[in-house]
Amino acid sequence: QIQRALRSLTVPLERLHLMKGHMIQDMCRGLSHETHTQAKVRMLPTYICSTPNGTEKGNFLVVELCQSLVRTLLVTLYGDGNLSPQMVYKIFDMPEGIRQGEGEALFDFIAQCVSQFLAETTNPNNGSSEECLPLGFVFPFTCRQTQLDKAELISWSKGFSCSGVVGKDVVQLLQAAINKQDMGGNGGGSRWLSPWRGWKSSHSNGQHSRVQVVALMNDTVGTMMTCSTEGRPCEVAVVADKGSNCCFMAEAYLVETAEETSGRMCVNTEWGCFGDDGTLNDIITPYDQCVDEESSNPGEKRFEKLVGSLYLGEIVRHALIGLTTEKALFTETNASILKEKGVFTTQHVLDIINNEDGTTEVKRVLHLLGMQPSERDCGRVQQICRAVVGRAATLHATGLAAILSYMCQTREMEQLLVNVGVEGELYQGFKRFEEILQSVSRLLSPECMATFLPSRDGSGRGAAMVTAVALRMAAQRREVDEVLAPLRLTRADLEQVQQLMRQEMERGLAKSTHATASVRMLPTFVCHTPDGTERGDFLALDLGGTNFRVLLVHVAEEGISMASEIYVIPPAIMQGTGEALFDHIMDCIMDFQRKQNMMLQTLPLGFTFSFPCQQVGLDKALLLTWTKGFSASGCVGQDVVHLLREAAQRKGNSGLQVVALVNDTVGTMMACGYDDPKCEIGLIVGTGTNACYMEEMRNVGTVEGELGRMCINMEWGAFGDNGCLDRILTHFDKVVDESTINPGKQRFEKLVSGMYLGEIVRQILMVMTEKQLLFQGRSCTKLQTRNIFQTKFLSTIELNGLALRQIRAILQELELDASFEDSVLMRQVCQAVSLRAAQLCGAGLAAVVENMQEKRGLTHLTVTVGVDGTLYKLHPCFSKNLQNTLKELAPNCNVSFLLSEDGSGKGAALVAAVACRAA
Ligand code: ADP
Ligand code: MG
Repeated sequence: QIQRALRSLTVPLERLHLMKGHMIQDMCRGLSHETHTQAKVRMLPTYICSTPNGTEKGNFLVVELCQSLVRTLLVTLYGDGNLSPQMVYKIFDMPEGIRQGEGEALFDFIAQCVSQFLAETTNPNNGSSEECLPLGFVFPFTCRQTQLDKAELISWSKGFSCSGVVGKDVVQLLQAAINKQDMGGNGGGSRWLSPWRGWKSSHSNGQHSRVQVVALMNDTVGTMMTCSTEGRPCEVAVVADKGSNCCFMAEAYLVETAEETSGRMCVNTEWGCFGDDGTLNDIITPYDQCVDEESSNPGEKRFEKLVGSLYLGEIVRHALIGLTTEKALFTETNASILKEKGVFTTQHVLDIINNEDGTTEVKRVLHLLGMQPSERDCGRVQQICRAVVGRAATLHATGLAAILSYMCQTREMEQLLVNVGVEGELYQGFKRFEEILQSVSRLLSPECMATFLPSRDGSGRGAAMVTAVALRMAAQRREVDEVLAPLRLTRADLEQVQQLMRQEMERGLAKSTHATASVRMLPTFVCHTPDGTERGDFLALDLGGTNFRVLLVHVAEEGISMASEIYVIPPAIMQGTGEALFDHIMDCIMDFQRKQNMMLQTLPLGFTFSFPCQQVGLDKALLLTWTKGFSASGCVGQDVVHLLREAAQRKGNSGLQVVALVNDTVGTMMACGYDDPKCEIGLIVGTGTNACYMEEMRNVGTVEGELGRMCINMEWGAFGDNGCLDRILTHFDKVVDESTINPGKQRFEKLVSGMYLGEIVRQILMVMTEKQLLFQGRSCTKLQTRNIFQTKFLSTIELNGLALRQIRAILQELELDASFEDSVLMRQVCQAVSLRAAQLCGAGLAAVVENMQEKRGLTHLTVTVGVDGTLYKLHPCFSKNLQNTLKELAPNCNVSFLLSEDGSGKGAALVAAVACRAA
């Protein structure tokens, strides 16, 4: 019988594995939006998003509400790694009846404790009375927390039932009570500044006006906060006390019940309720069943009732009663005293098992209860005690293993190294607790290496740390905001950019001002967009993008099909003579014609030539300047189409009829126009940025003719080159500009396009490192390297739900050893830079659509923008941010966006096709 009892109290290893799996499942359920109400492990977000780093400094007040008392503490931290915090505390007994009285009375009492404590401990002449004293409130009841300083009480427990508190924000209740203390009971004092803003209090009389509740927490998180060590933060805490609980730092994006998506957040698991859905039924013994039935909450907190020290003595008592009935124990002594609830305390149990030598302790305990046990009885009682407490430790370890494995998995690590803070009566009272916790969790989660650290005074010192960390984070946020502030554009800023763009567009279009306008507004001589009736075969050339290509484009009723070939232009030819360059291009064309078996055909050819040109006709364009590494001699100022025709002559190729030259923006508009006749705008946001649109001919001062429309290549990258954008340029933009090959030029492009965003981010990161906001101020030489931070990193880093581990991996590639907080900051920087780019682009586009709307005399414009460019296409938020801005700034325009596929190939062919159709 003894053996059977012992066996029932021993959970086999494979069952522990199973339980670990169940725990992880329930944790996931608790974190998910859809299922969290059904989860037994509640996984409550705490809004604590960082752990101490040792720089915390200052005075922090803590008030802790306990079962029958209130404890107040004043903790001073010195920024010395938290090695020697100074603490003063005072305990106040709670008056009778307050726990069941009115809520207001409870909070008034707590506020009085704070007030009295402060009067006794702080010197009013010491320190500036302008400074706020931050207070952390330890409130160990189940709350729905929505901010660090906002928590609605869900339900009372532990004998509390004060009226008028459930459903209210307890932080506000406490703050109001504290304010009332100071205001002489007139109930005022709602003028508290948010702790995130500044520390100047609006009250001037009385010292208590300086107290501000900045954090609410339960005791578990405090435990975690006291156990960080140099270089390794503590990110898990286990409280093995009368009850049992655990908290850990989860990836914030997984905590779906909180809005925070960046970084990590401490989650209070409330794992005591694990098993309330029956998951643990097969390991629950008849003794546990009796304990549960005699408890105040039968059927609830099943896990806690197996592991909490409140219950261990009772489990042993019921086991002893059972064995006595079965005559396996106490056959020679009267054991009826055991029927009395609570006679066999957990302390007895712990004394018995901690005593290594023999059974003297058992004997002493049983004698105290008036029993006369035999030697055999004593041995058996000792075995039962060991089994019950050993099981509690083992189950704690299993829960912990679930947490550790979950952390390791969600951080996508092969191995997790982590500090675990431990605290509580059972941990302190049972000598072998830590050993079991360590060995069993290692066995169940071999991929995790936990270092266990005893926590001291989690609910006191720890609570002060929570408060301190919250303030450190708030201060950091303020500094970060300050650095990023110049990048943040207001609605008014954007409206101004829109107006300036309108102005520059007008100047570019008008004959008299065209020459000096920063937005060139080049006529393209493309006067029609496709209408879908175009048919035939066309040749297309694409020069000036990432590759040089020759294409054969087949435009038919069923759609457009293409064949193409990529050719290399060797640097020697890019930088040689113009003749050699165009000869090479012609060789490539002829090679393509041979491969396509079309040497005998003469096809219309469209030429996408993505360099700035002064166009004088659809097939006549003077090269203004080479860019992108080209410098072939004898071309600038020449007609590019003519140069191509000359080469055809030299090579004896008569199968070409060059019809049109366009740039990539126009090609993009035309390609999208084939699918959507409303497409009358082209936009590029890739390496560079540019736009084109269909303007009324009568407004184009630089070309004769009044009728119809013409596509205008805006060359808007140069917007601002006359200084009109200087007001919004930041220090970072200026530094980036100075290091380019064309300082002072392409100002708008340098705020918007892929070639520059990474560089802007890099400049900001360097400044933040200097200000000690990043990498704990350690300078990193790699960050000094130009272009090391590519624009594609912005896309990756800003991807919502991307684990911080992956961000860190990117950063590690750059030899940046980032903490997870660094990664969070990094994401903020990237967001600020890409948001501004998208907003500016949206403001530019708003100018274009409003211009079209007004010139056409419409109250409402419906138009489509054809877009190309990798930044627009691949960045996770760029397009959405652009469109939002556009909607705000041009409310009367209904703008759709169509992504172009191969605009420069298809588009050139379509320009040729439209020209042929028009002809
Ligand atoms: P181009 O403008 O030269 O014709 P693209 O439209 O492909 O070519 O743009 C290339 C530019 O896009 C790169 O220079 C880079 O700045 C940016 N880029 C590349 N990958 C990404 C990405 N994943 N997210 C955002 N931007 C990117
Ligand atoms: Mg391109």
